Amino acid sequence: MDEFTTSCPIGNTASIYKMAGFYIRLMNLPLDMISQLDHIMLACLAHAVDVMGDLQEIIRLILLPQLKKLELEGITFRYQGAEKNFKVILYRLSADNLGFHQLTGLNRCFSGNNPCWMCTETAESLRTIWCLNVRRNRSRHHYDHLISNGNDEQRLAYGIKSDCCLNELQYFHCMENFSVDYMHDLHDGHFLRLIPRIVRDAIDAGFPLPIINNAIVGFGLVGNDGNNPLRPIYLPAQIPENGDNLSGYTAKTCGVLVRLFPLMLKCAGIRLHTPSWLVFMKLQRIIDILYAPSITEATILMFNTLVEAYLKDYIAIRGKMTVKPHKLLHYKAVMEEMGPLRHLATFRYEGKHSHFKQYANVNRCFKNLQTTLADKNELMFARTLMKMKARKFLNLILLSLNDRCQFSWLPRK
Ligand SMILES: [Zn+2]
Repeated sequence: MDEFTTSCPIGNTASIYKMAGFYIRLMNLPLDMISQLDHIMLACLAHAVDVMGDLQEIIRLILLPQLKKLELEGITFRYQGAEKNFKVILYRLSADNLGFHQLTGLNRCFSGNNPCWMCTETAESLRTIWCLNVRRNRSRHHYDHLISNGNDEQRLAYGIKSDCCLNELQYFHCMENFSVDYMHDLHDGHFLRLIPRIVRDAIDAGFPLPIINNAIVGFGLVGNDGNNPLRPIYLPAQIPENGDNLSGYTAKTCGVLVRLFPLMLKCAGIRLHTPSWLVFMKLQRIIDILYAPSITEATILMFNTLVEAYLKDYIAIRGKMTVKPHKLLHYKAVMEEMGPLRHLATFRYEGKHSHFKQYANVNRCFKNLQTTLADKNELMFARTLMKMKARKFLNLILLSLNDRCQFSWLPRK
């Protein structure tokens, strides 16, 4: 679930024509296939102002009955002459921090007592911790006990604003089907704070901002990385009260910058030995594991050790600890349950928004915009279904993906 602005030139924060999109992916399909936008299906689209005020009630009325029916009856279809029935269960939720708290009925304050949906650390206490206290992890048992026996005060102390209606499903519980998303935690959060800190330290070490920007802009990005050229970094003369925040960077470009920043500086002959740079180099090893398409148990253990060492050093250099870098500590548990985190990231869902944004711009009519966009999506999905009827459909998909992956770095003729 995510909110996005369709037709507003003044920015993403404007609420007019803001849509709330609920997408579904079928995890049975091959991984290469479910990462394609055609196979991310639309469950529900609505004006955000109409649904986000009382999201639990909207889900209870619209989505929950359908999910219950799928769980109970499944989908029956004919394949190679035989009828087959497949049960469909809700496996996990994906959203940004605010969206996840709204979907699960947790409170929406990230500077108070319950900013993390996986543990009960407060915004104050998580500023100084670099390893998890397992006794503070949330549990299904405690949650259910508070819902059935606790009073409002006890529930609020645990961060529960309202009961998560999705718990009525047989195979889903909001305290067990945890999911994390490194796009919102790191690319859209932690990295935006870390990069300005590194750059300010580099300036203090004798490398002016124009030299660093020349290194970034002058580095020839190739392949997919080059689709969105990197902007020069802008920093105000004085550090703002809230701390520096990298502006003008999307999650994708920020990821490219963080991944290639050491190479960019090396190519420009810049050698940094500042404390923040040494911490940043530790982060590189963590990112390598996050991006890995497959992982082993030993890698997960090493990942956790690296995260603890990284956060310890990050806190030591007075880096700003919020719930976003704190979530790194929970990644180990999620990886053990669900495998490589690159398959849980929401990059592709964000990509799905572009279909709706582009069509809303072309359409120019904003009456019943949500219905217009949903109808358009149906047409696009019908085309996908037609394509899926082709013989050897999966082979064709894999071939087209291989072509794109192997030759994307070649210059276009
Ligand atoms: Zn936590």
